[in-house]
Amino acid sequence: MTAPAHLTTETSRGPADLIAAGHRSYSFEFFPPKTGEGQRVLWSALRRVEPLDPAFVSVTYGAGGTSRERTTELTRRIAEDTTLRAVAHLTAVGHSTAELRGIIGRYADAGIRDVLALRGDPQAPWRPHPYGLRHAAELVELIRQCGTFSIGVAAFPERHPRSPDWDTDIRHFVAKCRAGADYAITQMFFRAEDYLRLRDRLAAAGCDTPVVPAIMPATRYAQIARFALLSNATFPDDLALRLRTARYHPGESHRIGVDHATELAQRLLDEGAPGLHYITLNQSSAALDIHRGLRLPTPPEVHR
Ligand code: FAD
Repeated sequence: MTAPAHLTTETSRGPADLIAAGHRSYSFEFFPPKTGEGQRVLWSALRRVEPLDPAFVSVTYGAGGTSRERTTELTRRIAEDTTLRAVAHLTAVGHSTAELRGIIGRYADAGIRDVLALRGDPQAPWRPHPYGLRHAAELVELIRQCGTFSIGVAAFPERHPRSPDWDTDIRHFVAKCRAGADYAITQMFFRAEDYLRLRDRLAAAGCDTPVVPAIMPATRYAQIARFALLSNATFPDDLALRLRTARYHPGESHRIGVDHATELAQRLLDEGAPGLHYITLNQSSAALDIHRGLRLPTPPEVHR
């Protein structure tokens, strides 16, 4: 299968080139829905972010391949049917290297040249695939061997939960960058200092790979409490209390989450963050409210 010509000409380093040219990279994350109603909601959200001309939108991947076809199909459709640049997430766990090569090849066939390379979260106790990869750095190397791709990786403002200490965490992150990552996107976090400290640590390690902070709009108490637990992100007490108090008042809850995220995002931009990556959960209204509430730094020139 050959991809349409306009999809295969994209050989830039995507957000990394944008950032290198002095622009900020604003992007939105979606997941591939399982139902027809989920598709309708997703496409409505995509069409609402399209006029903003974001740097890209990304599509998550179910670890172990649970959303393999849906991720590929959705990413391909976004690239073909919208003006958006589409980044496909890919996780290594549960796949052999041969399977991963096959998936990367199918991404390329579908015209997808932007991949977020992740290890994925293994089920405990973890038995690595006997013919697979152990860490994201190896996936970055594999993707580089497979052709010309723009490659992103994950960064952790509060350290990866399985890293024994900060030095180890930073060393392994730098290894992913040296393996060929062009940029990174962070795990969700709610305190600007966590991002700023990570940036200082990376600078001290001589790593200048741009790290784009992820913004999760905390608009629903129970959902954020669960996600924070899963991702090891600190859910600040004052934010948790305000959201919990407003949990039966969706309008108020939305406002609290949007206000908190807008303040966080503005501080990050003011501190020089190279962009923002909004986690939408396929509902773009909170992300759009946040983005519209920001005083965006003026770009040096139009980026497209
Ligand atoms: P790695 O970089 O491999 O790191 C994982 C751990 O291994 C770290 O503790 C690291 O220090 C350690 N490590 C790395 N290299 C070595 C080494 N050589 N020796 C010893 N230890 C090492 N998950 C999904 O399933 N689907 C998604 O779509 C998805 N999207 C995500 C998007 C973003 C922006 C982020 C931040 C996370 C996403 N995740 C997703 C979750 C991610 O898969 C998990 O957080 C996973 O636990 C870590 O992935 P990684 O790519 O950072 O792994």
